[in-house]
Amino acid sequence: CKMDKDSLVGSSCDVTFKEINDINHKIRPDLLSLVHSDFFKYFKLDLYKECPFWNDNNGYCVNRACAVDVVEDWDQLPAYWQPEVLGSLTNESLSADQARDDECSFLDQLCDNSRAKLSRQGPDIEYCDIEDFHNDQSVLVDLTANPERFTGYGGEQSSQIWSSIYRENCFTLNETGQCLAKDAFYRLVSGLHASIGTHLSNDHLNTETAKWGPNLELFMARVGNFPERVANIYFNYAVVAKALWKIQPYLSHLEFCNAYHEDVKSMITSVVSNLDSKIFNEDVLFHDDISSKLKNDFRSRFKNVTKIMDCVHCDRCRLWGKVQTTGYATSLKILFEIDTDDEEAKQTVVDKLTKYELIALFNTFDRLSKSIESINNFEKMYNDKLLTA
Ligand code: FAD
Repeated sequence: CKMDKDSLVGSSCDVTFKEINDINHKIRPDLLSLVHSDFFKYFKLDLYKECPFWNDNNGYCVNRACAVDVVEDWDQLPAYWQPEVLGSLTNESLSADQARDDECSFLDQLCDNSRAKLSRQGPDIEYCDIEDFHNDQSVLVDLTANPERFTGYGGEQSSQIWSSIYRENCFTLNETGQCLAKDAFYRLVSGLHASIGTHLSNDHLNTETAKWGPNLELFMARVGNFPERVANIYFNYAVVAKALWKIQPYLSHLEFCNAYHEDVKSMITSVVSNLDSKIFNEDVLFHDDISSKLKNDFRSRFKNVTKIMDCVHCDRCRLWGKVQTTGYATSLKILFEIDTDDEEAKQTVVDKLTKYELIALFNTFDRLSKSIESINNFEKMYNDKLLTA
């Protein structure tokens, strides 16, 4: 990646790529342990929720039977290499009945009851539909048993999904700050796209050896040859890191119960205490009343991005797409909807975060942290290759 590591990430991120690399290096082990803890490793989602935006009649496939576009030549390969197999979730995660039984005792253990009772009335400050997680059809999924990796999902269906996501970045208001908002929105979705591209290149199936591992050529073709895509991953890291930094003083109310309560809290503290407020300056985006309409537009467009995940026909891609868009939605809520002068209001917003928003927030940070670690590894592979060439 031909970029100067001492330059600033830009767009309100007053830190360099190198500074983010250093922070990431420090927090990586604790963040990894955190997302492997019982509280943070389970996510809930409805895999059968219908795509709310389009149907077969206008050319898109929403039928489960045409679940995945098969990459050319894939049908020559054994069944376990087919995208619908690679992209499916492990059987245990998909057993809805079992998941529901386990969930009862699991949820009791997690002491989420106090938060669930808090009223959510008031103006809409949500960037995703948080009711999604309470749907009857939703199942619990162990994220650590279903890593984000190459699934073979591709072709027309996935590119149509990406174009729909980018099309949301089309603000009609001609207000001050529109450019900043448009730029931030674009960087968020492009950073998500690039982070997914990094994971699928890093954990890729070599069809000749049947082994999983990093694929440098693929990484370069998807991400590495486009410095702005790499930069957008760093931008997203800064956005989520700032949201975590911002809620740090209010996290003491969170309860994780039982034996691992203290462990989880100390891992959170050690991750969050390494973050720095200058990593992202959210105040320049929607800073006055004029831009409140723009902020509403931004919020509803981002909500659409989270809903577009219900149109993804690869279970595992949908799972990680939902986790990450929910994580960004939660970050945006924290950054843009918390009144900075009102301590009580800040505590209330944090107290009202649902368990799944918290899980998504930390897992999204972990995804970006893993992407940055992988980018640095790919850079070493690239330099080694140049030396041996
Ligand atoms: P695509 O990645 O589909 O991109 C389409 C076009 O967008 C490109 O031609 C390019 O012009 C542009 N573009 C690409 N990247 C960027 C960027 N970062 N910023 C701006 N523009 C860009 N596949 C997996 O193997 N594993 C997964 O876990 C996975 N998860 C997914 C989750 C979602 C929500 C979606 C929509 C897709 C997911 N996919 C996953 C599929 C993957 O993202 C690609 O769509 C697929 O690999 C086909 O890639 P492509 O090269 O055809 O271009």
